[in-house]
Amino acid sequence: MVILKTTREIAKMRNAGRISQRALQEAGRAVQPGVSTYEIDCIVRDYIEKQGATPSFLGYGGFPASACISVNNVVIHGIPSKNHILKNGDIVSIDVGAKFEGYHGDNAWTFPCGDISKDAQALLDATREALFEGIKNAVAGARIGDIGHAVQQYAEARSYSVVRDFVGHGVGAKLHEDPSVPNYGIPHRGVRLLPGMTIAIEPMITQGTHKVKVLDDGWTTVTADGMLAAHFEHTVAITSDGTVILTSAD
Ligand code: MG
Repeated sequence: MVILKTTREIAKMRNAGRISQRALQEAGRAVQPGVSTYEIDCIVRDYIEKQGATPSFLGYGGFPASACISVNNVVIHGIPSKNHILKNGDIVSIDVGAKFEGYHGDNAWTFPCGDISKDAQALLDATREALFEGIKNAVAGARIGDIGHAVQQYAEARSYSVVRDFVGHGVGAKLHEDPSVPNYGIPHRGVRLLPGMTIAIEPMITQGTHKVKVLDDGWTTVTADGMLAAHFEHTVAITSDGTVILTSAD
């Protein structure tokens, strides 16, 4: 069931979104060769807790950290570790959520570590732009399929693949609500987008196959062919005055 939010609830979600985005930016600034993914997770947790908020992911379904940190061929749900030291040339996807006054924000960004290859940079650029194509199509009166179609078309036109096994989602008092927001789809199909809907749009785009596998830890999700993946996400609110990015810093 899709839960529509009031203007007042959306204002609260804007606060949660702002904290989530600032935590993500703090994490991104820390990405450099020689830093462990555990250190970045600590930065995220400290920042969120200092704002009087709670890291949404910590303990969610048993997840052991505040941020998912997914490097290179890891698509999503990478577990931060003291033993994982970032190297020059890595691409580092960081997914962060914060709960504040009862509502969640959820966002992700893939950061370059030092100097990355042209191919890696092109993947980052395409995935970020695919996210904004999705957001552009997330307007009242459109349908969920319009978002996924826009993302898919943008990515596949550049010979990338769209991960199917994981999708975006509604966000609110719960981190994951209805509807599902796939990054693929058919125009004019699926749930109609209404003012008051708050959703996370989060393309996961790969260089090779769209197929992924989950490692034995039950979380770490990697590309089946070992090629690079990128992940960008914003939580947005659909309103009668247009679509608002809730996970924005200012
Ligand atoms: Mg999400």
